[in-house]
Amino acid sequence: MENSKKKTTLKKREKKVKDSAVISKIRKDKEWKLLYAKKGKEEEKTLERFKDLCINCAKLETCTIPKPEGGIWRCKEYVQEVGVGEEPEKREKKPSLYQNVKKQFDKATNMMGLDSDICKILSMTTNEILVNFPVKMENGKVKMFTGYRVQHNNALGPYKGGLRFHPAVDLDEVRSLATWMTWKSAIIDIPLGGAKGGIKMDPSKYTKTEMERITRRFTFALGNNIGPDYDIPAPDVNTNAQIMSWILDTYLLTLPPNQRQCGIAVVTGKPIELGGSVGRDKATGQGVVFTIEEWARDKNFNLKGATYFVQGFGNVGSWASRLMKPHGSKLLAVEDVSGAISNPKGMDPDELIKYTKSNNGLISGYPKAKPIDHDTFMKTNADIFIPSALENQITATTAPLLNVKLVAEGANGPTDPDGDIILQSRGVDVIPDILCNAGGVIVSYFEWLQNKRSESWDLDEVDIKLHKKIVEAYRRVRDTAKKFNCDWRTAAYIVALTRLEKVYQERGIFP
Ligand code: NAD
Repeated sequence: MENSKKKTTLKKREKKVKDSAVISKIRKDKEWKLLYAKKGKEEEKTLERFKDLCINCAKLETCTIPKPEGGIWRCKEYVQEVGVGEEPEKREKKPSLYQNVKKQFDKATNMMGLDSDICKILSMTTNEILVNFPVKMENGKVKMFTGYRVQHNNALGPYKGGLRFHPAVDLDEVRSLATWMTWKSAIIDIPLGGAKGGIKMDPSKYTKTEMERITRRFTFALGNNIGPDYDIPAPDVNTNAQIMSWILDTYLLTLPPNQRQCGIAVVTGKPIELGGSVGRDKATGQGVVFTIEEWARDKNFNLKGATYFVQGFGNVGSWASRLMKPHGSKLLAVEDVSGAISNPKGMDPDELIKYTKSNNGLISGYPKAKPIDHDTFMKTNADIFIPSALENQITATTAPLLNVKLVAEGANGPTDPDGDIILQSRGVDVIPDILCNAGGVIVSYFEWLQNKRSESWDLDEVDIKLHKKIVEAYRRVRDTAKKFNCDWRTAAYIVALTRLEKVYQERGIFP
């Protein structure tokens, strides 16, 4: 027994020595830019454990770093994050987004004293739908996909929320995003509930025809779990008006012919010709800028000449940047999935958008800015930071890097609870996601209303109504923060939960 233990320890030690030899070899390679196994079999075997580091990376499918063919590779950033020498099991696990939601929820419910029974209801989702479905690819082979739709709560009205196509989509993420949708609708006072969905996939890997088949098959698999009076999807990360059109068409074809005309409100964010609303494409970015304007008014802060930087240059980030331009504010840095760029003299958002259109939607290589690394991007000295990409970007590690007066959360969940505490302690103002990016769902609601009433409003009408809704919500949150002497995220939760509490108290719990 004792002998076999010694043997195992010896073997482990031998392996460690071998590994560290390989590691030091790799360290010399291209300043850590790429880790990869050389062709020799022995080295590949020795590096087997690093393979896991790469395979489990959330960015694996979207990573644009060139990969040596057939090698086991890892980018500098990820290696630094997990530590090259560490065993995979010792690595820090990706934090659960839903844990963040729960922490935020608990903080608000304790502060406001939410009815404990209503607390139980709202702390859980209502329905969680997971569908595995087959799609025939261009090469004639079938590929299986996993899609989700989580419906958190419909006490205020039909479930409502976007669909995200991304490799990191999982139940934990969709559950969190669905829950935030319930709070968002409640804060802005619209008769809608909260839902979210998506497919775990990397759209950049598929042709347009494959994307159409994947979207249509997913819609078919969801069946009656969506509907204009029940659950209404909209665009989110990597989905757009085209995807909404395919969903609409597929859904309508599942209805009896005499009901099809009533079905067009099944999705929002549609092309205008198919019943979409003018102003929906810019709505989220427009809402972000309206809330920034309100903050500037409150603080007596002049947006003319103010500086800002943006993470994510898709729908939300590019529109927010574009709409900051008329204020005379200066865009100093941008980051997207292809990297970060900066120009201390400022960049023209319209020109950058034009450039991305000719560059697969990416900012990399933009000639009027220089590439910078992620940390330098986060350290940009500016007045405002507008995160508009993914969640968990402002954390205990990155919050201390920020050098801004305001974080206006265009993205959902960009700040985790540790990041929040650091921002508060450093006196950085935060317009929380569930308020800041609510412009999208506000105009989605307008689109849904227009469909139901067979109306089409003009842009002025949409913009005026959007401005009114989001400014009223902003003031509700601001006043609640004052009343409870708390941070704005907790205040936004209190506004939402107070509204939902009233609804449950009046309706009662069946039976
Ligand atoms: P999008 O797909 O149009 O754009 C996403 C952007 O993020 C792209 O520029 C992409 O390159 C970038 N990105 C992805 N991974 C990144 C990374 N690791 N680092 C830096 N950049 C990265 O998506 P969108 O619709 O603009 O949504 C962005 C965020 O806003 C999401 O959190 C979404 O939930 C939220 N949101 C969107 C809407 C809407 O109406 N589209 C409404 C409310 C909230």
